[in-house]
Amino acid sequence: MRIFHRAEDLKAYRSTLTKQNRSMGFVPTMGALHEAHLALAQRAMAENDVAVVSIFINPTQFNNAEDLEKYPRRFEEDRLALEQAGVEVIFYPEVEEIYGQEVQPEPIDLRGLDEGMEGRHRPGHFPGVATVIKRFFEIIAPDRAYFGQKDYQQLRVIEHMTKALGFDTVIVGCPTQRLANGLAMSSRNYRLSTEGIAKAAIIYQQISWAAQHCQQYRPAELKEAIEQAFAQSDLQLEYVEIADPESMQPLQDFDQARHARIFMAAFCEGVRLIDNDKLF
Ligand code: AMP
Repeated sequence: MRIFHRAEDLKAYRSTLTKQNRSMGFVPTMGALHEAHLALAQRAMAENDVAVVSIFINPTQFNNAEDLEKYPRRFEEDRLALEQAGVEVIFYPEVEEIYGQEVQPEPIDLRGLDEGMEGRHRPGHFPGVATVIKRFFEIIAPDRAYFGQKDYQQLRVIEHMTKALGFDTVIVGCPTQRLANGLAMSSRNYRLSTEGIAKAAIIYQQISWAAQHCQQYRPAELKEAIEQAFAQSDLQLEYVEIADPESMQPLQDFDQARHARIFMAAFCEGVRLIDNDKLF
């Protein structure tokens, strides 16, 4: 297994692969890996000659200093898990390697995909995400890059950025991996107690309820019922939104919609959790 800390070294390695006509799959992560990350890595390995997994806690996508500080960090465990999974390459750069002295997002037009939901509640989050992925693509020039649908808005933002900036990389969206109780796997789950993990099951329960009842109720009615369910729970709902998965704009009505998706963010034991799923 190779571990690269420097962009230049990884770039040189990438050039060698290109000369040998070998493809590269890329899985960007912020570490504290779990099975969902490993599923992305497995897919990257299966569909490419070489898979590279980056571990980089991207400071520009955090709008909250405490959230950044408390983000779990466990490189040694991550390295071992990737090695056992058979991943060939890890990219583990310092912040300076990616940003130099200017730790700031670049202005990238995200066509309003970044306005609602996560973008509204985490100002600056998506410009930070788009910037770091752009820089990684410039270094790695991956043939394919793998992203989870758990962060659906992020996936849409990256798809747009990739096209708009003319990268050749194919963006592969992968299904959300869940625990047995339905809770979406997340590095943030490491910060929850066993009780918290059990209580947080309400998030996916409510998403599933909405999927089963979207023929009967309007979006506003579904959202209100979900707000009430959370008001009686131990979690604090930050938002629930129903949106068109293409434009990411909120849907007032299902009548004209070809597709609809539900999105939520909620706090459990002070930890911010997000999830989403297809309604139809
Ligand atoms: P993160 O380390 O949280 O930035 O996530 C790295 C990648 O893993 C992103 O593309 C995420 O969408 C994806 N990911 C994280 N959790 C899940 C999950 N439960 N199911 C599928 N993909 C996930």
